[in-house]
Parts: sequence; C-alpha cells; structure tokens
Amino acid sequence: MSHGEVLSGHSVTELMLDGATQESITPASTHLQPGDDAHGRRIALGELSYHPRYVVWELTLRCDQSCTHCGSRAGDERSSELSTEQALEVVGQLAQMGTREVVLIGGEAYLHPGFLEVVRALRKVGIHPAMTTGGMGITPELARDMVEAGLTQVSVSIDGLETAHDLIRGRKGSFQAAIRAVDAMSQAGMRVAANTNINRVNRDDLEPLFALLCEKGIKAWQVQITVPLGRAADRPRMILQPYDLLGILPRLAKLKEAAFAQGVLIMPGNNLGYFGPEEATMRSLRPDLSDHWGGCQAGRYVMGIESNGDVKGCPSLQPDYIGGNLLQSSLGDIWDNSPALAFTRERTKDADLWGFCQTCPFAETCMAGCSFTSHALFGRPGNNPYCHFRARSLAKQGLRERLVASSAAPGNPFDNGQFSISVEPFDAPEPSFDQHFQETREVPRLEDFPQDAQGRKKYFAQLVKKLAPDCGSCAAPCS
Ligand code: SF4
Ligand code: SF4
Repeated sequence: MSHGEVLSGHSVTELMLDGATQESITPASTHLQPGDDAHGRRIALGELSYHPRYVVWELTLRCDQSCTHCGSRAGDERSSELSTEQALEVVGQLAQMGTREVVLIGGEAYLHPGFLEVVRALRKVGIHPAMTTGGMGITPELARDMVEAGLTQVSVSIDGLETAHDLIRGRKGSFQAAIRAVDAMSQAGMRVAANTNINRVNRDDLEPLFALLCEKGIKAWQVQITVPLGRAADRPRMILQPYDLLGILPRLAKLKEAAFAQGVLIMPGNNLGYFGPEEATMRSLRPDLSDHWGGCQAGRYVMGIESNGDVKGCPSLQPDYIGGNLLQSSLGDIWDNSPALAFTRERTKDADLWGFCQTCPFAETCMAGCSFTSHALFGRPGNNPYCHFRARSLAKQGLRERLVASSAAPGNPFDNGQFSISVEPFDAPEPSFDQHFQETREVPRLEDFPQDAQGRKKYFAQLVKKLAPDCGSCAAPCS
C-alpha cells in the first residue's frame, strides 16, 4: 500500500468502521461493554472510553513499487524497523488495549520477514487482521499462505484504469499485477475489496473502473482523494482542486446507489466529503440509513503504528503527531499520556477551527473534516477546502477556491509543503501550464509532452529555459 491512500485504501472491515466511527460508536456498538476493563481502567457504566479500536500498522516501509502519490514515500525500509520478535510483543499490547482490528500496510506488509507470524499472532489474541496492498508481489502461493495464517480480508489499491494506474504507480504492468492479485486472493478464499485515490489523472475513470471492479467480484470499494502528502506533495498538478468535488460527489453517489443494488458497498474515505446533498447516501452502510460524517477519529478510536515503532493517532498524520515510540514506552502510556495523540479529544470550534470552517453551520459536528488533509495543505488542521458543502456554498456566490502551492515538501515520509487559497470567479479559466509552472515549479507529466520528435525538442527547449533560465551561458558542452 502506498500511504496517502491514507486512511486511504483499506479493508472491508475498515469501510465498515468508517461508518461506525462517524456517529454511532457507543459502548453497545463496540466490543467494549460497560464494565469492561480495556486497558487497566474500569470503564464506568455508560462511559465511552477512547481506545485504539482500529489500528493501521505499517509493518515495513519496504515496497516493491514507487508510486507517485505515496504519502510515506515508501521504497526502502526505515533504518530501525521492529523485528518480528518486537512486533509480536506489540501484538500483545494491542490486545490489552482492546484493539479489534489491525490493517497491515507498508510499503508492502508482506515484505516484512515476520508478516505471516504477525497475522497468526493477531488472530490468536482475537484481533481481526486485514491488509491493504498494491498487490505486486502476491502470488497464488502467498495468497494461500495468508489465508492459512488467518488473513481473510484484504483491500487492493487500484487507482484508475490501466493507463492512469500505471502512470500514478510509476510502473508499467502495475495494473495487471493488481488485477492478478485480486484474482489470486479471491481464489484463495479471501474477501477482496478495492480502494482508489481520486486525483486529476484518474477522475474520468470512476464509472468504467467501478464496472471493472464489479466484474472482478469486488465486495467493497473505498474512494478517497489524493492528498498532497509525501510524493503527492511534489506533484500539485495531480491533486484535485476543491471545486472538482462538485462533479465527483454526485457521480460517486450515483455509482453507490447502483452498487447497493448489486450488493457492493462503496464508501468514501475520511477525506472525501462533506455535508453535500449526497452526504447520507455516501456515508451510510445501507440505503435505508442516513449517516453523516462525525469528525476525525485520530487518537480516539484510530491509531497508526510506523515500522520503527512510532505511534500516531492516525497512520496518515504527519510526523508532528508522533506521540512516542514502542521501543521506549508502552502503548498504554503513549495512548493515555501523549498530547500528540489526544489532539482531537477536546477540540472546540472556537479554539481549533479557523477560516471558512469556523463559520460553517456543520462546524461542531464536522470539525473541519480530515486532520491530515488540512495539515498537508496548511501545516495545521482546522480548515479544510476539500469540502462539498463549502464548494457548493461558494459556487452559489459565483466563487471557487483554488489551491496554490507556495512551498515544496522537504522529501521525507508523510511530509507536506504549503498551499494558499486563491478565491476566484467560479468560471475563471484553468491556469495555463506557464502559470502553474510559475506557481509550483512542477515538472510536467510525461503525457503532456508532444508525441512528435520536432514538437518534443521544442517543448524540451522551452522547459529547460523555464527550469534553468541561465542554461546556455556556461562553457561546458551539454548533451
Ligand atoms: S466547511 Fe469545514 S466544517 Fe463545514 S462541513 Fe466543510 S469541512 Fe466541515
Ligand atoms: S486524520 Fe482523522 S479523518 Fe483523516 S484519515 Fe486520519 S483519522 Fe481519518
């Protein structure tokens, strides 16, 4: 899995949790019953105690792909990843904390030498294991081994039809590998879901992609937007503009209605919303329900573990939110005492929201949507332009917000650059490449280059002029 799929791309069970975390977590709907002792404390009757019910665990940052939108910039393993023995010790701590489900991710979780042992250990202590994967290295044999170890739910990341997927993943053949993985895992007896990051490269693919996923027997599909986190932060032209949601949400709602009829569940990831006319359709697990977004659950019922033992309230959050390391402190200590994990537990509209979100009628419930998404744009949560309600409100006034990249990300896992918001007339022309380049210095995508040799040469000459205006003034011969 590439992160940035963030609470992107996840398992069927996570889709279910997305529903559960919004409005409806009550003691009765969790595994915790009043009086249970989840982590050394008595839970008073009726009291709702925050605990890491749902954990996303990056077992290793090693990856067999190098996707252009990967939030964790996965590829090589981290310098000090947990050994199998240390990981098994963490499994015990998770059980003590009342964890119900762990989604294993990477990099690719299956590249950790203890992957199957961790799956077995989770099963043994009664925690449901799931996995999100790009599928490149999943063979029929590995799929069978995974089922034998107790892994029965998996989500495969598929980011568009073949052209878009391979372009985003930066590897020809990646799409076919993902499809082969779906087949292998289905045949091995797993429940297979898919997850897709939506961006400007693949946004036109949604309908045919859904048809293809249905053909492949996918049971659930999670859709979220690509956030400028990690490698995606280096490609601001790839990400959606907030007003793009005006077209995308109604399309997805229509697909979801069709999906219900086919017994397939489409769920939005936590950064795709909020409070537009399609809210109930998008957020509900069944057509007869009317759920809605209920705020970021990072550090409340959600927790992320990085492969070196760092703990965050959500796997996609930036390094500022690391609350401790499992090689130095116990999980219970980090969870209970780290302010970095507790930032959503006591928020108020007046103290924590800003900009448009502070003035929004849904503010108390929504709390500005997904925290890591806002942080990826502005360096702090509390104001989120990726919002359907907001885009619609502005459109009614003839306006729209455009995100303009103002500084680059340094190049580390889960890092971000900075964006500013430009409010412009709703019908303003899309910025030309030149304007975009002036703002972002982003090198164009390969498919933007002219296909003929002459045109390509001219285009390169222009590009070099823009990238290196002084080029040609040196004495060195240049190829
Ligand atoms: S404007 Fe902000 S607070 Fe209001 S619904 Fe949208 S994201 Fe939530
Ligand atoms: S930051 Fe919050 S809302 Fe966003 S994916 Fe993480 S837990 Fe969900």
